Amino acid sequence: MELQELSSRLSGKSIIESLKELGSIYPGEVVFTTSFGIEDQVITHYIFTNNLPVEVITLDTGRLFPETYKVFAETSRKYKKDIKVFFPEHEAVEKMVTTKGPYSFYESKENRMECCFVRKVVPLNRALKNKKVWITGIRAEQSGNRSGMTDLEWDETKKLFKYHPLFEWSLRDVEEYLRENDVPYNSLHDKGYLSIGCEPCTRPVGKGQDFRAGRWWWESDSTKECGCHVRYSESKAL
Ligand code: SF4
Repeated sequence: MELQELSSRLSGKSIIESLKELGSIYPGEVVFTTSFGIEDQVITHYIFTNNLPVEVITLDTGRLFPETYKVFAETSRKYKKDIKVFFPEHEAVEKMVTTKGPYSFYESKENRMECCFVRKVVPLNRALKNKKVWITGIRAEQSGNRSGMTDLEWDETKKLFKYHPLFEWSLRDVEEYLRENDVPYNSLHDKGYLSIGCEPCTRPVGKGQDFRAGRWWWESDSTKECGCHVRYSESKAL
């Protein structure tokens, strides 16, 4: 199906209706990746409480915050549904950490991209294999490389559709939804963390700072992505 056709199939539909529609067009081929951030928790709530035909998966990089594991456990307990975990290939992690140490990512952009590739991009590619639709928690107001996107896209690199159901939501919308629906969330959000990734590469964001300013803050360029949503697979940085 072409992007235009799929877009018109979803046009005017609610989030629940859209996810149902995607699941019926591509049965068993719709996957949602969660890192347990607040946007992801909203989508998880939609999927699990409505039994939507979407597989929920997460990437465990091995460097996550204890608070992230806590919300993972709380989410599993609350909804009593499986969240499928993908780990990095152990040989690649062992080789990287043996030769470069546990904090190689602070030393150069190349090392940081290598770590993100090994710990995130490779497991993500495994999770997305043979899938047709990738659901994400991206919102339009999250800036940087993500501006200029639309809620439904064709990813030519991964050869699948990407659908961002909360694309038009504000941060306030997300926070209100969590509160009104008693959705578990990562307690780091109450301590100034907005975008939460790996523990050594994430810090709180000051008032008025960019959404992803707390990620890889030591790097001088403005690219605040791990390679999951951009075409790093084609770049030398890998
Ligand atoms: Fe490695 Fe940091 Fe990327 Fe996590 S965010 S995979 S620790 S470089």
